[in-house]
Amino acid sequence: MSRNDELFARAREVIPGGVDSPVRAYGSVGGTPRFMVSAKGAYVTDADGREYVDLIASWGPALLGHSHPAVLDAVVTAAQRGLSFGAPTAAETELAEEIRRRVPAAEKVRLVSTGTEATMTAIRLARAATGRDLLIKFAGHYHGHSDGLLAQAGSGLATLALPGSAGVPAAIAAQTLVLPYNDRAALEAVFAEHDGKIAAIITEAAGANMGVVPPAPGFTAFLADIAHRNGAVLISDEVLTGFRASASGYAGVLTAAGEDVVPDLVTFGKVIGGGLPVAAVAGRADIMDLLAPTGPVYQAGTLSGNPVAVAAGLATLTLADAAVYRRLDAAAQAVAGAASAALTEAGVPHVVQWAGTLFSIFFGDAVVGGVPDYATATAQDSAAYGRFFHAMLDAGVSMPPSAFEAWFVTAAHDDAAIGRIVDALPAAARAAAG
Ligand code: PMP
Repeated sequence: MSRNDELFARAREVIPGGVDSPVRAYGSVGGTPRFMVSAKGAYVTDADGREYVDLIASWGPALLGHSHPAVLDAVVTAAQRGLSFGAPTAAETELAEEIRRRVPAAEKVRLVSTGTEATMTAIRLARAATGRDLLIKFAGHYHGHSDGLLAQAGSGLATLALPGSAGVPAAIAAQTLVLPYNDRAALEAVFAEHDGKIAAIITEAAGANMGVVPPAPGFTAFLADIAHRNGAVLISDEVLTGFRASASGYAGVLTAAGEDVVPDLVTFGKVIGGGLPVAAVAGRADIMDLLAPTGPVYQAGTLSGNPVAVAAGLATLTLADAAVYRRLDAAAQAVAGAASAALTEAGVPHVVQWAGTLFSIFFGDAVVGGVPDYATATAQDSAAYGRFFHAMLDAGVSMPPSAFEAWFVTAAHDDAAIGRIVDALPAAARAAAG
């Protein structure tokens, strides 16, 4: 029995499924999850002492690579000053200013600890601002695990093929209208049907929790337009894309494409904590000022803006300059290009989809024309991905253990790390071919 097997058996005795977040359990690909003991740059090392090139990057936060020395320094310095004060610190303002500098729609910023809290608060704000209850979300988009947002969500729900979650009151589920992504007619119809009752549209800035599914050209501008024509709020969830898809998130990708979209509220997470728990809800000053203590919308957190976590996030964003994004993009292009070539060589039908520097690859005949929505994403060949995943893992590359996730590179994926991935690809592509 390997050390990973032992640890997993022991964990399952005391932790449901042996994991603290479902996708980690390898539920859809099978096998024993690797228990990690350390991470450095582009690599992670498991409990059996095996090193892997990492394509999970903590599901996004490790933008610079793991354990960047300057980030560690900032964390240690902050920790030595105090782990938590329960009082404001100057660094929280600095982080909020840095977020606003990169994303002008973030006129005001409230720090929280998880993406789930950020989207939950954004929705509460939208409802307070409009005096309406109904919410539109898109099938395959994941916004965390609050009650109203689990209907046809991506990420672990897609991996486990769950339509939603048990334990959500029917009255709450009924407040969420789930529509297919990239479908303008469906939005027109639902706004006509529920005239004057829709508080907000929440959308991932680019879908990245069903694999990567970017908005069609013009679709995000259409969302802002239809929301505003109907007195509703547009919430752009950049928890995953924020400061990863580009230096200014997916908003920056849209701007570069000439599509200027100003959402009313934006949520962030992952990269802004650099691997520690920081997330944020941000947006129009008039809406953000509805938050207590200035306004009537309550939201709070014992550890919100925690000084150690904020230090990690601030150091990460400060280091994430244009050169970092060029490296990230080059690494993503290299991995995607090599993987696509290996799959073609092995005769595996597939499509590579992009959202800025983010990408994923869908396998199977059903996806080769492109994946615009969740219905198409669920038609992919997950079993082929599972075989690919295990062949990569055996060869020392740790991929997301689900076909419904982005492939995460870091700025530390240098030629040596990419070379290891490239070497592993031909056999994995043949395994995918079956
Ligand atoms: N929104 C998006 C777009 C996400 O990708 C995630 C997490 N993957 C969340 C919200 C929830 O964030 P957290 O896991 O920090 O609660």
